[in-house]
Amino acid sequence: MHLLSLILTNRRFALRGGVEAQGEVDAFLSNKAFILQKDPAYMEACLYIYDHKDELTDEFDVALAESLHRDFAKEKNITPEMQHERSLVYNRAYVNWREAKSKKDFSIFSKSLGEVRDVQIREANLHENRKATPYDTIFDGYERELTSQDLDDTFNECKERLVPLLKKIMSSKKKIRTDFLSRPVSDESQKACAQYLLDTMGFDFNRGAFATTEHPFTIEMGKNDTRVTTHYYPDAFYSSMFSIIHEGGHALFEQNQPAENYSHYIEFNKTMGMHESTSRFYENRIGRSREFIALIYPKCCELFPNVFEGVSEQEFYESMNTVTPSLIRTEADEFTYTFHIIIRYEIEKMIVNGSGCDIASLPKLWNEKYSEYLGITPAHDAEGILQDIHWTSGFGYFPTYALGNMYNAMYYNKMASEFDLKAAVRSGDFATINGWMKKNVWARADREAPKTWIKNITGRDFTPKDFLDYLEAKYGEIYGL
Ligand SMILES: [Zn+2]
Repeated sequence: MHLLSLILTNRRFALRGGVEAQGEVDAFLSNKAFILQKDPAYMEACLYIYDHKDELTDEFDVALAESLHRDFAKEKNITPEMQHERSLVYNRAYVNWREAKSKKDFSIFSKSLGEVRDVQIREANLHENRKATPYDTIFDGYERELTSQDLDDTFNECKERLVPLLKKIMSSKKKIRTDFLSRPVSDESQKACAQYLLDTMGFDFNRGAFATTEHPFTIEMGKNDTRVTTHYYPDAFYSSMFSIIHEGGHALFEQNQPAENYSHYIEFNKTMGMHESTSRFYENRIGRSREFIALIYPKCCELFPNVFEGVSEQEFYESMNTVTPSLIRTEADEFTYTFHIIIRYEIEKMIVNGSGCDIASLPKLWNEKYSEYLGITPAHDAEGILQDIHWTSGFGYFPTYALGNMYNAMYYNKMASEFDLKAAVRSGDFATINGWMKKNVWARADREAPKTWIKNITGRDFTPKDFLDYLEAKYGEIYGL
């Protein structure tokens, strides 16, 4: 599991009153682990195996040598004192962010955000394998070999095509029915639905389980133990449905890794963009497709009879694909989601690379960007710049969410060229879909960097084109453009 995911997961488990103390324990333990990692004999061995990787005949060994070297390059010039300070800064930032968010007041968090930035820049500058800018160095830690130039090109193309399309959608005469979405449902029927969806997707209950939490997530406890969580809202049956499909997608990735990944300790090499590509493939490309809605509609009518009273399959499909500019990223629809990421990327790149970036003025910049791209403005910081936890422990994470959509659009098209994917979804043939994913998408993820990985899957270089074509076609049809 990625370190940030682990921290986010730990924080989700922590009780409100225990957060600060738990953070101190986290800081203590990670410092002990760090000191072990800095052992001269260990570092020398990491370097030796990396320098001699061409002599290795097993490509899983090569992947291990490369991953050890990545950690080595990142931490080589960081002292245990700096590492300890980093932990304390992040923990303090988290505590201040929580207070700032609850009081809707960015000024409570701004000093901490500056400290996080300073730590990140210092460590980027000390990195043994520095890239063109501090942001590039930091981002390479998440999505290796991709650069801020790749992100600029990708997001500019998104803006060019999506901004005018959003305007057309917003002025469309099409009225999508959503009145039934808030009809009341019981936790029991939502739980039965979650079980049904995971079963349908091919989730292996022998090696996994699901439960409820405040914020849904997936955690891999070990080789044969992947757990997903969801949250039931009594007046939003679909929320748990799509979060369980999303987390189920993460879980399928974990449950279908080559056994060698474990014996070679490389099971956490896959990038967050790769992981999000899978979860969003199941959630959006499959889950929100016309065919999947047709597949699950009868079961939904059976489990939620009062919700679906007088609601057609087509109305259900359209309601799951409405485009509504909104302020909160985690509640955004498939179409507007990318704007939330672009805004965060533009701001965090400026925080890290911009000389003399004025932290205090960031809420104003945030609100201006929401107004420019989505035509809406937050009423306060809690629904604006303070909404996400991520910046309490650094930058560079957000773009991976958007890249996931672009990777999966590319491999969706490749898959659809090899068999009738829509028919497979319509008939619930997930054995065929998951079999293709296992062979083409999941098998090599821990041994390849994203650009090589997507090229090996699709035969093409990374591009946002497939994703943008898909959005234009799908929403053009729904909104009659
Ligand atoms: Zn996810």
